[in-house]
Amino acid sequence: MADEGIGGVFGPDWSATGGVVRSICDSLHLPHLEMHWAPSHLHDYHPFTINLYPEPKLLAKALVAVIEDMDWTSFTLIYENTDSLVRMQELLKAHDSQLISEDRVPFTVWQLGEGPDYRPLLKEIQMTSETRIVLDCSVDKILAVLHQAKQVKLMGEYHSYILTSLDAHTLDLGELKSGGTNITMLSLIDRNKYTVQSAIYDLNNPARSSIELDNKKLNLSATTIKTGSALIYDAVQLYSKAVSEMVGDSVRVAPLPCHTPGYYWKHGYSIVSRMKRSTIEGMTGKVELDEKGRRSFFTIVITELSENGQRKIGSWDPLSGITYTRTKSQMDREIYQSISNKTFIVTSRLGKPYLWTKGDNYSGNDRFEGYSIDLIDEISKDLGFKYKFVLVSDGQYGTYNKKTKQWNGLIRELRERRADLAICDLTITYDRRSAVDFTMPFMTLGISILYSKPVKTSPGLFSFLSPLSLDVWMYMATAFLGVSLVLYIGCRISPYEWENPHPCNLDSDHLECVFSLHNCLWFSIGSLTGAGCDLLPKTISTRLLAGVWWFFALIMVSSYTANLAAFLTMERMEDTIENVEDLAKQNKIKYGVLLGGSSLDFFRDSNVSTYQKMWSVMESTRPTVFVKNNDEGVERVLKGKRAYAFFMESTSIEYQVEKHCELTQVGGLLDSKGYGIAMPFNSPYRTAISGSVLKMQESGKLHELKNKWWKEKSGKTCESSKHVPLATNELGMSNVGGVFLVLIIGCTLAFLVAILEFLWQVRKVAVQEKVKHRNFSKKLKQAYTL
Ligand code: GLU
Repeated sequence: MADEGIGGVFGPDWSATGGVVRSICDSLHLPHLEMHWAPSHLHDYHPFTINLYPEPKLLAKALVAVIEDMDWTSFTLIYENTDSLVRMQELLKAHDSQLISEDRVPFTVWQLGEGPDYRPLLKEIQMTSETRIVLDCSVDKILAVLHQAKQVKLMGEYHSYILTSLDAHTLDLGELKSGGTNITMLSLIDRNKYTVQSAIYDLNNPARSSIELDNKKLNLSATTIKTGSALIYDAVQLYSKAVSEMVGDSVRVAPLPCHTPGYYWKHGYSIVSRMKRSTIEGMTGKVELDEKGRRSFFTIVITELSENGQRKIGSWDPLSGITYTRTKSQMDREIYQSISNKTFIVTSRLGKPYLWTKGDNYSGNDRFEGYSIDLIDEISKDLGFKYKFVLVSDGQYGTYNKKTKQWNGLIRELRERRADLAICDLTITYDRRSAVDFTMPFMTLGISILYSKPVKTSPGLFSFLSPLSLDVWMYMATAFLGVSLVLYIGCRISPYEWENPHPCNLDSDHLECVFSLHNCLWFSIGSLTGAGCDLLPKTISTRLLAGVWWFFALIMVSSYTANLAAFLTMERMEDTIENVEDLAKQNKIKYGVLLGGSSLDFFRDSNVSTYQKMWSVMESTRPTVFVKNNDEGVERVLKGKRAYAFFMESTSIEYQVEKHCELTQVGGLLDSKGYGIAMPFNSPYRTAISGSVLKMQESGKLHELKNKWWKEKSGKTCESSKHVPLATNELGMSNVGGVFLVLIIGCTLAFLVAILEFLWQVRKVAVQEKVKHRNFSKKLKQAYTL
């Protein structure tokens, strides 16, 4: 062609001949315009080559920006071949695991394979629960991949795709619209804006040339124009603009013998330089080149597939980055509109007061009642959606099994997209937050201890003994006997305690000591009880002893009296625990927690030494102290006779305490957290539902609901132990009955002893007088007259 004379070369499309063409154009000074992607290393400087395809690094930047803007926390890249991997390398570099950057998100990379069956690969990706996918493959494969993705459930409502092919906008994605999948496309053609200009320039006959820049809108559908065609169009525009600016120079093509060195086209250089300097507004937006002929300015149009077809949501260019054409309120309106047509599958688990079944006579949502139903009902009324309650099959909240790398319970239902919302007493935790999304909390709480209230113990008949301990009573008795004995011996020893029993008979040698053992005991007990005694010691030694004993008695009696008042008037409570430290310190009361809940995780993962210790105690206790559900825990506390305490969340404790008056919360909260409504990652409804929860909180509706299910429905009011006075001033028979008993026993004993004494006397007289048995009345008379 050069032999015949040409003014420039457009193309070829990316192929092995590209390099040859570039070299020939370089040596013949022929303007060479390329319109395809070429890796950066092929952009070694060729002064006569210009490429209108966006500069690869800049294009990758656009993709990185879009992903960043979507707040993705992870993504999967599906690439087709080595070229596609080279194209995506900038994206991978931006999220390289070596990078310490906040914007870095983890990603996985999969190769699409030969096809046409991509399902095994897509199924594998589906198993990873990844919902964000970047698909980089040739445009003719996209539809097949997406349809197969739909078949393996990788095209659900919570999935997001970015199609990197700049021709994706030409595809008919009609069938995929209804699935609710977010499909974002990047393209160079702004279908709302492009104009087609026609330019004709006859290089061989400049006089006949005419340039028609008539801005005529041709009746072409943007969806049919491929990026390659649009770029050719723009290349021609650019070329024609450069040539038109050189009209004065009478540009003519000349035959250039290709094989004879030294020949070149004299206009080539200035046309290429003008092209590099000029800017045109083409079908692919504004075209601007750098000095190396690479396209340094282009606009990427970001389109999204919605129910009404493809719609531009924003654009990216190297100078201003992403600019959204859709406003926040528009986006919110769209979400609110889509929510009102939806029926949410709400998963939950049974557990009072959040959810329980009414009976077999009901069907659908009517089967259930409780706080959760009311809460979702209020939200549905606010946002206008419908819902269907489904119970989770394993009845679990949701824990991550590190061995199987699987979640269970409600979290699993959401991750596997079997439900749109999970609602119950589901605690927002860091781990769960990394697997699902949560609304803002609708209830705040913390872990606390559920325990039985201390029981009042009846004072007991012998409570008058309580002021002094058994030891003291024993020591006192010993002291009493000891002092009596010492007094007895002291009196025997001391000569001054011996007296004439008949003071009138001064000559009598007979001396007696009144302090017989019997009298010593009488003296000691008389002194101790404060009653005194008619016998008093006379010598210094015995008086000293008596003085000390009286002092001892004074102190003991006053201590006893003081303590007795307190003991008799106070209601005795059983020993109890007051906080978690008390519980940790002892080993009489066992304590446990719910299996598979966040409270268990709290103890297991805690760094606080008390909780660590409690966790190892709980783990090693046999039989197990863990329970399968809260009801079992409550049952154990109720039946445990204060030998079992249960760690439970304060809100549930509040409910149980209202229901069972014998239960109480012990101590404060060990932590602080909240219950939230969970939903799959990336759920578009999160903001709307969170907003609704917030509204309910502000209007007091949440408080009202809590009162309804905690207080009104429990239908019971427990007398708070705080309002029962612990002490009363009056003493009842139960307090002092023992003293009466002692009195009665004492009287009876005294009476019996008196009879015994009498009988003894009768016997003595009878023996002396040798009275016959038969004459008992005579015996009696004699005994008394004697
Ligand atoms: N609310 C807890 C959870 O979501 C369950 C109850 C508990 O662990 O005490 O895991």
